[in-house]
Amino acid sequence: MKGNNKEMRKGLLERIDSGEAVLHASGYLFEMERRGYLQAGGFVPEVVLEHPEVVEQLTREFARCGADVLLAFTYYGHREKMRLIGKEDLLEPLNRKALEIAHKVRDEFPDKLVAGNICNTNIYEPGNADSEKEVRAIFEEQVGWIAESNVDLIVSETMSHIGEAKIASDVCQQAGIPLVQGLVSHDGKHLRDYEGGIGEACQELLDYGTDVVGMNCMLGPATMLPVLEEVCKVVTNGRVAGFPVGYRTTPEQPSFGHMKDEHLCCPDRLPVPGNSFPVALDSFTCTRFEFADFAEKAFAMGVRYLGTCCGGAPHHMRAMAEALGRTTEASKYSPDMSKHAYYGDDPSLKDYNRKYAEKF
Ligand SMILES: [Zn+2]
Repeated sequence: MKGNNKEMRKGLLERIDSGEAVLHASGYLFEMERRGYLQAGGFVPEVVLEHPEVVEQLTREFARCGADVLLAFTYYGHREKMRLIGKEDLLEPLNRKALEIAHKVRDEFPDKLVAGNICNTNIYEPGNADSEKEVRAIFEEQVGWIAESNVDLIVSETMSHIGEAKIASDVCQQAGIPLVQGLVSHDGKHLRDYEGGIGEACQELLDYGTDVVGMNCMLGPATMLPVLEEVCKVVTNGRVAGFPVGYRTTPEQPSFGHMKDEHLCCPDRLPVPGNSFPVALDSFTCTRFEFADFAEKAFAMGVRYLGTCCGGAPHHMRAMAEALGRTTEASKYSPDMSKHAYYGDDPSLKDYNRKYAEKF
């Protein structure tokens, strides 16, 4: 692993604590589903083994567009999910391959950070000792492979229970690897097993030893911002994360799991009756400008770990990076309308067309 020289690179906490933004790209699950490499429903990333070149290319695209963190695609690649699809034998190869892909892309971008990935197990039940034990075992085996691959950090995603996030924290602390914890709130206000606000929950996790805490998934940029604002009132050291979904959620429909498209011609075709989640969300897709706006506002609030989640794509990432004043490898292709036949102002363009554009 030629790019894996940690001494040469500024680490996660060093970047955040010096006030830098760290840009995180995810959205692999939904992107792979759209491209025909992953099945909606179970959402298991078998593509890592079946078509590693596709995962590698998406990782590279995010990197070119300014992502600082190259995430190993093991979301829903844990034992519980592999059991559900009857492929537990693929668990270890899948996890190891995903890490290998992230490292391979990092060889091309030596300053980037490689992140291992763990996530909600869907078997956690507060107060149930058996479930807590099972969850711990799931994290321990994944973090074991992650630790062997010598990553820069672990991103733990989409946990709606503080209890489950604490187990993740224990396991990552034992491994001595910095942890970014993304929490999920289905109503934008509460976790499922915590009475207080999300800001208090984040502070509790930081006090517990988690390194960076915040929100990911479920909420779109505009809906996540006010939640992050509350978090930043409690957590003031910048160790706050926010990586929303790429969909226009609203106060009435705060999570992409609840969205209903009243303009859809044929609601009977939806796999979940009356609900756009998960494969009919296209009409709610955010533009790159909504992500640029999110990045600028969240950074101003004090959020230092920023990015995309489900529905996010490389063009969103580039817009975030540029909103924070960066130039990415892909910025040479950022929009420039000056040479557009109808909207441009290049002197060689035909007035005949430009005048016609006034009618548009
Ligand atoms: Zn997501």
